Amino acid sequence: MSSLVPVGGGEGPLARCTLCGITAVGPCARCKKPVCGDCCELTEGGATTFAVCLTCVKRGGKSLTAGWLGLLGWLALLMAGCVAIGLVFALLRR
Ligand SMILES: [Zn+2]
Ligand SMILES: [Zn+2]
Repeated sequence: MSSLVPVGGGEGPLARCTLCGITAVGPCARCKKPVCGDCCELTEGGATTFAVCLTCVKRGGKSLTAGWLGLLGWLALLMAGCVAIGLVFALLRR
């Protein structure tokens, strides 16, 4: 049965795509499972681009942290507004 060893001489450190089984190119940014290029979608999360597997895309959308990132964005906007108003009042009081 030794002739049934797959071409390449063993598994090695190469991970297999959890969805289709071919050699994975990297881990999913969400669930950390190895995925190949065909089974992931690239999504932008801030400054970097993440690969999210199709399972996670279906489960929670492409965006990695859309929920709290949007919330943080709103909070940042509110904070900026408050700071701006505070600055205006501070300048007027002089
Ligand atoms: Zn795949
Ligand atoms: Zn995933």
